[in-house]
Amino acid sequence: MDLTEKYFYIPDSTDNISFLTEHLFRQQTSSWQLAADNYKGLEKTLTRRLHICGMCFVVQFNPERIRSSAAKVDAKSISERKCFLCPQNLPPEQQGIPVCVDFLILVNPFPVFPKHLTVSQLQHTNQSIAQNMGTMLDISAILTDYTVFYNGPKCGASAPDHLHFQAGSKGFLPVEKEFAEMKNRLQTVKYKSVEISFAADYLRRMISLQSNSKSDLLEAFAKIYGMLSTLQPHEAEPMMNILCYADKDSWTVHIFPRIKHRPAQFFEQGKNQLLTSPASVDFGGVFIMPRIEDFEKITAENIIDIFNQLTINKTDFEKIIYEINKIK
Ligand SMILES: [Zn+2]
Repeated sequence: MDLTEKYFYIPDSTDNISFLTEHLFRQQTSSWQLAADNYKGLEKTLTRRLHICGMCFVVQFNPERIRSSAAKVDAKSISERKCFLCPQNLPPEQQGIPVCVDFLILVNPFPVFPKHLTVSQLQHTNQSIAQNMGTMLDISAILTDYTVFYNGPKCGASAPDHLHFQAGSKGFLPVEKEFAEMKNRLQTVKYKSVEISFAADYLRRMISLQSNSKSDLLEAFAKIYGMLSTLQPHEAEPMMNILCYADKDSWTVHIFPRIKHRPAQFFEQGKNQLLTSPASVDFGGVFIMPRIEDFEKITAENIIDIFNQLTINKTDFEKIIYEINKIK
């Protein structure tokens, strides 16, 4: 199959990718019924705001995301299903824009954000960040109206067997504004040109990197990745979610180290169940609830408890801060 047949845009065009992406978004949400219906549905979706310890959380009722929240990601289920990110399996209406040599920008037909993209590799290879952080930085530098995010294979990726990022409208996740506001109060370490900040009291523990140097960011990330790997030697990749956004001057990267995939509430029965499978978006401050009963009943206490179960523990977080201080 000639993959270029599916492309919305032919690679030798000199048009700006960011501009083409906006064009692709308009084209897909007007001519692809599934995308048109779901983006229209999102405009009417129910949301609640919860303020917890000075932080803002948006709870979004989003029934279409049941596919992702309840996705079976065990090895057997994955091997038995047709991979929905492989180009030959994309719906006939779906088109993409090639980017970063072997990635494809696609409109996500099950949106959480007003504009929601999937950026997936053409080849079917495992979700993994160690060798692909540079691509994540490149994508965020191209799509400057978007926040790019990565869900680790055991941290919410519904296709852990196919390398992909997602991107959503910048400014939608509360973490972006909250980080800018609290940055001056956070413990910070400098590594080369990279400012590394630690949010220890943010319900979920977060390590943030800021720099205008891609190579310095990659070095700092590799060091943090190595430290997190030491804490989880049995995992193929240390558990984490990552958010990344860029402006013309610099990148901001937020890393959320984790110790667990799904909270206990996910596996409960009856009234004690909360069908939530937090990933980058939830760690960014928007809790996605695919069932109306969960949307209505989730409380501030639930959110605090869920983050307590999933985020890296305090002792290990302090160990990371100590180690990073040693390399500065
Ligand atoms: Zn695939």
